Amino acid sequence: MGRAFVYVILGGGVAAGYAALEFSKRGVSPGELCIISDEPVAPYERPALSKGYLLPGAPARLPSFHTCVGTHEERLTPKWYKEHGIELVLGTRVKSADVRRKTLLTATGETISYKILIIATGARALRLEEFGVNGSDAENVCYLRDIADANRIVDVMKSCPEGNAVVIGGGYVGMECAASLVINKINVSMVFPEEHCMARLFTPKIASYYEDYYNGKGIKFVKGTILSSFEFDSDGKVTAVILTDGTRLDANMVIVGIGIRPNTSLFEGQLTLEKGGIKVNGLMQTSNSSVYAVGDVAAFPVKLFGETRRLEHVDSARKSARHAVAVILNPEETGEFDYLPFFYSRIFSLSWQFYGDNAGEVVHYGDFLGTKFGAYWVSKGQLVGSFLEGGSKEEYEAIARATRQKSTVENLTELEEQGLGFALAISQEQPPEPTVSLAGASLVEERPLYAWQAAAGVVVAASVAGFAYWYGRRRRRW
Ligand SMILES: Cc1cc2nc3c(=O)[nH]c(=O)nc-3n(C[C@H](O)[C@H](O)[C@H](O)COP(=O)(O)OP(=O)(O)OC[C@H]3O[C@@H](n4cnc5c(N)ncnc54)[C@H](O)[C@@H]3O)c2cc1C
Repeated sequence: MGRAFVYVILGGGVAAGYAALEFSKRGVSPGELCIISDEPVAPYERPALSKGYLLPGAPARLPSFHTCVGTHEERLTPKWYKEHGIELVLGTRVKSADVRRKTLLTATGETISYKILIIATGARALRLEEFGVNGSDAENVCYLRDIADANRIVDVMKSCPEGNAVVIGGGYVGMECAASLVINKINVSMVFPEEHCMARLFTPKIASYYEDYYNGKGIKFVKGTILSSFEFDSDGKVTAVILTDGTRLDANMVIVGIGIRPNTSLFEGQLTLEKGGIKVNGLMQTSNSSVYAVGDVAAFPVKLFGETRRLEHVDSARKSARHAVAVILNPEETGEFDYLPFFYSRIFSLSWQFYGDNAGEVVHYGDFLGTKFGAYWVSKGQLVGSFLEGGSKEEYEAIARATRQKSTVENLTELEEQGLGFALAISQEQPPEPTVSLAGASLVEERPLYAWQAAAGVVVAASVAGFAYWYGRRRRRW
């Protein structure tokens, strides 16, 4: 038994949703395109899971955050796919792929064949067992990658009002979950081996700002140590976390955010891999010319840095997916993907954006005692990375533009004195920059609606009822 499509997208996450929108904009006939996903729901904006989804009161729920609301575009509900003749094969895991025969075999035994395949399988959360610690199966130990995980966190939070949570990992999932737990009146301790939070991106000075802020919200940091084991009760629930330095932390729940691994296994031995992902060229094409890879699973050439990178950010998933579709449907008019890496987070009332690369020498600027500050990274006399907390749309545009053009930096002391003014001056000197991405998206994304709701929701956390009213009104406008 089997079905045949011209285009198949394997994976039903962020990249799949944006690819589907691009297919419909550029023209695909009914019955030509199919999306296969092991998730039971149509593609959605995954970052909402650690933001609006976990809030008390009136949390974000589907269908409100289906792609592509994150960039203020159409919300692709299951009805949308039906109306556009795009087949959604949901709740279906692909268990093997044969790129030579151009077929995929699902766990239900169906063979789905394609002419062109887009791999958008994303990544999975790393499990504690991969680091030699048992306990992931306990009912109060949670991960966060999909809606099922998010629902589990919500249930476990409800089961321990005003209880104690231990968050393992100091990356963005850990940081955002910690904020949501506190808003749900859960006491939080964060444990990670590094010297400070967000160690892959933040400098010690930037991290210390956020850690002070978190301390002010009652969140405790236990740094420089890792999880060693759990204590369990007779029902198999975790009751305490034991760290390698001997510390014991009471725990009613645990959230683990210790990184991800790209879902490449179906293609190992068939396609070239690099940086842990599936290697593609500037056209998002893998080592097999009928197969493309996009999003978290793809390792692609970042022209700006002259090297192949695999990024784990939503903006890169959206834009790489759209680019692949443009290459497939309009090859003559589409050049190589020229991407400026972009990452953001919003926690409590804070909001930051980062562009480029955090390599070379770092220069901080702004008011670290106030609400607006940032950092530049300078390598070989050129600006290669920019971070800004608390900026306006124009200011984020400016740091993005200055980073994209690798502005010359002659003197680091002067750069520090100029601060944000350096990027603003460059931005004013230059004619408007052509857009980085396709389909009219601007250099700096509009604030995603769900994230705005999440951030605003946090600000008014003291008045959950007021937030619920406001949130409900906003949601009806989607
Ligand atoms: C909680 C959370 C918060 C985040 N917040 C931010 C943020 O604030 N800013 C930011 O820049 N990024 C953020 N991210 C990262 C961002 O969500 C990812 O970069 C993005 O989702 C990647 O999109 P993707 O389509 O490549 O992968 P995914 O969205 O993970 O989609 C992959 C899909 O493939 C499916 N799949 C995999 N294997 C198979 C198979 N064999 N058969 C069928 N289906 C399969 C999966 O079930 C899933 O549906 C966050 C991620 C998480 C989990």
